[in-house]
Amino acid sequence: MLLKNISYYHTGGTAEKIYAPADIVELSGEIKTIHENQVPYFVLGAGSNSLVMDDHWPGAVLLCSNLNSLEVKKDIVTVEAGVENTPFSKVCLNHELQGASWMNYLPGQIGSTVRMNARCYNGEISQIVDSVSTVSKTGEIKSYKGSDVFHGYKDTLFMENGDFVAEVTFKLSKGNPEVIQHHMEFCRKDRESKHQFMYPSCGCVFKNDYEVGIPSGMLLEDAGVRQLSNEKVEISPYHANFVFNKGAAAHEILCVSLDMRDLVYEKFGVWLEFEMELLGVIPESLKARVCESKIPNHNQKELAPLKRKFQG
Ligand SMILES: Cc1cc2nc3c(=O)[nH]c(=O)nc-3n(C[C@H](O)[C@H](O)[C@H](O)COP(=O)(O)OP(=O)(O)OC[C@H]3O[C@@H](n4cnc5c(N)ncnc54)[C@H](O)[C@@H]3O)c2cc1C
Repeated sequence: MLLKNISYYHTGGTAEKIYAPADIVELSGEIKTIHENQVPYFVLGAGSNSLVMDDHWPGAVLLCSNLNSLEVKKDIVTVEAGVENTPFSKVCLNHELQGASWMNYLPGQIGSTVRMNARCYNGEISQIVDSVSTVSKTGEIKSYKGSDVFHGYKDTLFMENGDFVAEVTFKLSKGNPEVIQHHMEFCRKDRESKHQFMYPSCGCVFKNDYEVGIPSGMLLEDAGVRQLSNEKVEISPYHANFVFNKGAAAHEILCVSLDMRDLVYEKFGVWLEFEMELLGVIPESLKARVCESKIPNHNQKELAPLKRKFQG
């Protein structure tokens, strides 16, 4: 199976072994086997925050697609990792539960949405998670309270310890279905008006740097990254932090992304951190650039007018 056929960004080559566990016990057994045999592996959700690399992956890939159960009991909703954000949000609406309306049309699955503490439209997944069941890198089934796993902006315990998020229990509250639906529609329309779904992408390639106080998209735009677009890789005309795949291989998208990071550093002295996750084998020729880290050297003269523009 070519991973490009299942990943949201439409990139990715073959893999030595693919697992698609049906429940947490099966998942635990598979991760134990992987661990005992010292096989390298990565987890793939919908792939909407990831760039899956082109070369054959000499290890295992764990898919979440068969972990798709969902159960509602009053205001408690228990969901397996592979359930997508949009249907989850719709189930909550059907049960008149508020707290998940912002997840309507947020691409991706619950497992990785929790893993990276995704956020948008004044919502953040940390606000509604009650508990999480995971499988550790050695195959042990574990349970966490929601309050123990979130570390702030796009930062969680699971990004550190590499646990597989298998099941999440949400605590929601009763709400007015008209208000919930109105907000869901607002989220959908706003994304569509920004042409986010025009071509495959991974959402924002770079995180925001809150110390700089200017969204990365503005820095990228002002640094002139659109000049880097080509026939197959296009920086969105609507949002300079979105990189569209118009038939490119992963390494071509990665090259453009690395050039974008350099342009921002040259103009502003800001070293952007990737939000996009790189999964698989990074080409030897790009490894050094991927791992590069430059010391911030903020050019206040260039940043000041942009900050004024952002603050209105
Ligand atoms: C058009 C568009 C708009 C977007 N807008 C936003 C936005 O507004 N806000 C925002 O926060 N994000 C946004 N994103 C990014 C994306 O929607 C989220 O990051 C989403 O949570 C990713 O889910 P996924 O299943 O596709 O993750 P994947 O890309 O499959 O995985 C992301 C990472 O999580 C790991 N992973 C996957 N599943 C699991 C699991 N079950 N347990 C442990 N690790 C796992 C993967 O190995 C990888 O490292 C956007 C993306 C797109 C394409």
